[in-house]
Amino acid sequence: MTTKTIPFSHQQLESIAEQYPTPFHLYVEKGIRENARALSRAFSWNPGFKEFFAVKATPNPFLLKILRAEGCGADCSSLPELLLAERTGMTGEAIMFTSNDTPPEEFQEARRLGAIINLDDISHIEFLERSAGLPEFISCRYNPGPLKSGNAIIGHPEEAKYGFTREQLFEGYRILRDKGIGRFGIHTMVASNELDPKYFVETARILFELVVEISRKLGIRFEFANIGGGVGIPYRPEQGVIDLGVIGEGIRESYEATIGAGSIGPLKVFMECGRYITGPCGYLVARVRHLKKTYRNFAGLDACMANLMRPAIYGAYHHITVMGKEDRPADTLYDVTGSLCENNDKFAINRPLPRLDVGDLLVIHDAGAHGHAMGFNYNGKLRSAELLLRENGDVEMIRRPETIEDLFATLDWGKMAGFRT
Ligand SMILES: *Cc1c(COP(=O)(O)O)cnc(C)c1O
Repeated sequence: MTTKTIPFSHQQLESIAEQYPTPFHLYVEKGIRENARALSRAFSWNPGFKEFFAVKATPNPFLLKILRAEGCGADCSSLPELLLAERTGMTGEAIMFTSNDTPPEEFQEARRLGAIINLDDISHIEFLERSAGLPEFISCRYNPGPLKSGNAIIGHPEEAKYGFTREQLFEGYRILRDKGIGRFGIHTMVASNELDPKYFVETARILFELVVEISRKLGIRFEFANIGGGVGIPYRPEQGVIDLGVIGEGIRESYEATIGAGSIGPLKVFMECGRYITGPCGYLVARVRHLKKTYRNFAGLDACMANLMRPAIYGAYHHITVMGKEDRPADTLYDVTGSLCENNDKFAINRPLPRLDVGDLLVIHDAGAHGHAMGFNYNGKLRSAELLLRENGDVEMIRRPETIEDLFATLDWGKMAGFRT
């Protein structure tokens, strides 16, 4: 059981909203730093441990710069993500490039930056060689298929589009070895928003055993095993926070039984969490714009699913706090909606909340990862600002809200007058 607390007061939020109109995403620096530190603490037994923050979760360069200062690298999967990492000072082996269906220019950019390239498919060995040349350091992504069960968000590994099969992995490393590559890593990512520590321990064990087997068979040495991201967060108040200590300790035991016992090491453990680091430290702040009563009670906000689409696409639960009414009984059921012409545009369905009034400030929790990042412009909706609550209590705007001019920027209005109909 977690209590959904908020690290700012109603009054503080009202004064922020005076300066920056709702809706906006508000991130809390202190929590982000603490989460990054907790992760490295859990793996302090592993000297080379590194977290490569999954840029796609929260692709804001100011947050990336904070994470860099905490010792994190970047996990990128597209060219713009590579450029974001570079502009925050992360280059070379501080970047892991895990893409799929990759265009040649992305491999070229990853090579220019000296990023660790993590191949998604055996055919990409030749494709990379032709398009950008082979680097000296390379990793392959393993898909354990039916050997591992998936979870609701990621589905079954054997249906997933990612990674090499087991046979392809042996063949892939053999080809790479024969082409003269000297430095190797291995990667897998089979969970998303998983709250069971055992899942990560099992994933690590699968990779460690593979490292032992492949090293022996091919006579190559692995420098790292990257067990991916996917560490879950308690979106629901009745869920508990995952115990990173249990993950770290379980993985240490499995390391000693495999890598340690086989004298294969040292092997660095890498992770690429996104959600765990920033998810709980980001809040979508919106106001009640209209209250409507038909067959149900509807609270229409000034935010919509373009600001946070997880509830609409996954049916995901996001906790909602009505600022200033925390102590009132949650005795009224509301569908909390946005203004899109799309009936999925709901942040919550039949949610018990205190009686709402127009103008109430609502805080939607756990929006710090895969929130603003998944934003879109359907129905002419504009993406909101991103604000950062610094450790000293200051608030900085780290991304301005989009404007209608931004939305129209790809249209050439000059052609309109001469456009024949
Ligand atoms: C999305 C993704 C992550 C981050 O997932 P979280 O659930 O945010 O931890 C890490 N690695 C890869 C390859 C991903 O696609």
